[in-house]
Amino acid sequence: MPNFIFITGGVVSSLGKGLASAALGALLQSRGFRVRLRKLDPYLNVDPGTMSPTQHGEVFVTDDGAETDLDLGHYERFTGVSAKKTDNVTTGQIYSDVIAKERKGEYLGATIQVIPHVTNAIKEFITSDLESEDFVLCEIGGTVGDIESLPFLEAIRQLGNEIGRNKTCFLHLTLVPFIAAAGELKTKPTQHSVKELQSVGIRPDIVLCRTEAQIPDEQKDKIALFCNISRNSVIEALDADNIYNVPLDYHNNGLDEAIYSHFKLKPKKPNLKIWHDIMMAIKNPEEEVNIAVVGKYTSLIDSYKSLVEALVHGGISGKIRVNITWIDASNLCNDKNFSSNFENMHGILVPGGFGERGSDGKIEAIRFARENKIPFLGICFGMQMAVIEAARNLSLIEGAGSSEFGIVKSPVVGLLKEWVKDNSVVKRSVHDDLGGSMRLGAYECHLSEGSLVEKVYSKNIIFERHRHRYEVNIDFKNQLEDKGLIFSGMSPNGILPEIIEYKDHPWFIGVQFHPELKSKPFEPHPLFREFVKASLNYSRLL
Ligand code: GLN
Repeated sequence: MPNFIFITGGVVSSLGKGLASAALGALLQSRGFRVRLRKLDPYLNVDPGTMSPTQHGEVFVTDDGAETDLDLGHYERFTGVSAKKTDNVTTGQIYSDVIAKERKGEYLGATIQVIPHVTNAIKEFITSDLESEDFVLCEIGGTVGDIESLPFLEAIRQLGNEIGRNKTCFLHLTLVPFIAAAGELKTKPTQHSVKELQSVGIRPDIVLCRTEAQIPDEQKDKIALFCNISRNSVIEALDADNIYNVPLDYHNNGLDEAIYSHFKLKPKKPNLKIWHDIMMAIKNPEEEVNIAVVGKYTSLIDSYKSLVEALVHGGISGKIRVNITWIDASNLCNDKNFSSNFENMHGILVPGGFGERGSDGKIEAIRFARENKIPFLGICFGMQMAVIEAARNLSLIEGAGSSEFGIVKSPVVGLLKEWVKDNSVVKRSVHDDLGGSMRLGAYECHLSEGSLVEKVYSKNIIFERHRHRYEVNIDFKNQLEDKGLIFSGMSPNGILPEIIEYKDHPWFIGVQFHPELKSKPFEPHPLFREFVKASLNYSRLL
């Protein structure tokens, strides 16, 4: 049985529990431990797939096709461990499973209750589908005191007793705010939050304190005293200027030591070289590029979490700082000074998206990148719009559009009605539920010999993660190829166009998948690395 670390949060939301969990995972790995990270989300949606990106942030997709919370993206980026379907659960999913079992009569006449049936289902989720991990880090979404999180807290309390307190650790993340008027950091909210946690029977073993100013020793003593924990278990988590510094900060502040002392482990010395190297590259850039991201969810940057990180990663190996300028596609078409939006931009990226609003602006931005030979990367919706741009402006296909926008005369992008997954055919129709019915997860893609993407990847078979309902329509291939668009990546059966590029453009690539989901700071995704490099080359021409 692995050691379990349960991470809860208190005082306010958005303290960065996901990042804290991910950074701790990386620290444990630096001592040679195998880790697994999981997230329990207390909301009622079965998964975040149907939620608005501007409310909930990005939907992170795993290789095995689960639509999950964006925190799983942090976990992968910090630990490199590929998350699975079984690493994220929601209240909605737990209840659906319990109710489905009840309908099948599997509870043999029992009255179904939150305790024990729902809590048992939560415990089963936490402890199942494990391999030979040394540590399982389990983050509980929400804030202690929320009604929704109670069954989850009860389940981890029970697990603490069942697995044994020597195999479980409760880590509580709180806020120690700085009150400017008093000129002081305040520990009271932390005390109250721990009290709240204790009221459900959980005594934290470690309190990790988010703060914008260093916490003086007396204040740490106070937290230890009032929270009934040892002084070494009060760890300061000062705001970091870069998220990739967090593992190093936590290590310097003794978080991993506190964990090992709790579990009575004497691990080998940590190897934190990769994090030092990453920070060196980020802090000492030798070049910089400006990338315009033309999207629609620009009001909440978390909607593009992995994308932003992948762009940063793309610059790391070449010591290039990537400056992102967000351009809202919605009003772009009516902008009289359209081209001024792209002044000083060295690359244009159109990310994933849904719905017609903003699509014309995206198409215009793509035309601008194509005509002016500016490096362009189109992701998912961005690729679909690039094909529509070519169909309208180069192939002059009348009424070229996407069936996502309603009935169009020439559906250059149309609803995906069937595709092959693990050797069997998956079918979809317009009447299907919205939730969980897209083409999701990792699919194989074959790259054409001599293409730009083949050069970028240095191989010709790749696996990338998908999340889309529509697809470029192969029926228009010849008309588009006649005008210079190349279908350089296809599904193995040759039916689904997965990558497009142009013969006579220095760097123009559209991909039907989401490469940003697989990028790591220590292993930048080749598409982002090469896009940033191409943008740098373009900047030198100006
Ligand atoms: N809306 C498009 C589709 O469903 C693109 C999706 C995306 O960009 N993730 O196919």
